[in-house]
Amino acid sequence: MLTSIKSIQRGFLEVLFPKVCVICGLSLSKSEEFICPNCIKNRFEIANPDKKQVSSDTLLPENIVLQHALWNFDKGGFLQDLLHSLKYHRLTGVGVDMGVALGHSLKKNPFFEYKDETLLVPVPLHPKKKRMRGYNQARSIAKGVEKSTGIPLCSKTDVIRIKNTKTQTGFSLEKRRENIDQAFSVKNSITFENKTCIVIDDVFTTGATAFELAETLQKAGANKIMIATVAQA
Ligand SMILES: [Zn+2]
Repeated sequence: MLTSIKSIQRGFLEVLFPKVCVICGLSLSKSEEFICPNCIKNRFEIANPDKKQVSSDTLLPENIVLQHALWNFDKGGFLQDLLHSLKYHRLTGVGVDMGVALGHSLKKNPFFEYKDETLLVPVPLHPKKKRMRGYNQARSIAKGVEKSTGIPLCSKTDVIRIKNTKTQTGFSLEKRRENIDQAFSVKNSITFENKTCIVIDDVFTTGATAFELAETLQKAGANKIMIATVAQA
């Protein structure tokens, strides 16, 4: 009963406020949530058009077999706006849409190999930040990657953030590493033992956060780590 009332309400809302793309304002079809296919395909600059193993110019630590970003960060542009809305204005559905696109592009990278023993690991937020924001934007993106790749997502408590770090913006690489050192903790090593883990985040900058999480997962027994992000700065 409740479900039917909800769907009637949704029907009314769609008549009153038809769903439109958050970027270009064109109306969306039923299956599209927030961003239209044209914007997903053509609006942003592809970060890794040659499908390389490392899409940035960062040197990867030994245990990381792939670093893949979907789009190049555009300071002052649409992508920055979108990522900001995802982070601070509860537009979690945008995160899922971007995650779906990230998953599709990941599958096209020849260095991406998916076996049964693979898990998606969104970079966890410290509980204090999570309480303030209400959600973890990396988890919304990971939900989209799960949708388009079928790879399962680890649970919210499998790996947590125990250090409430200051914002990394403006920090040197050394300062970032020091800031993020020992920031994560794995609840039960069995979850990650002999698994391939795909670390998911919104933006890849110096890699300090993703590398620290990768190290934590590797210490818990993960055998391979990949990093997948919506943007790279
Ligand atoms: Zn659009």
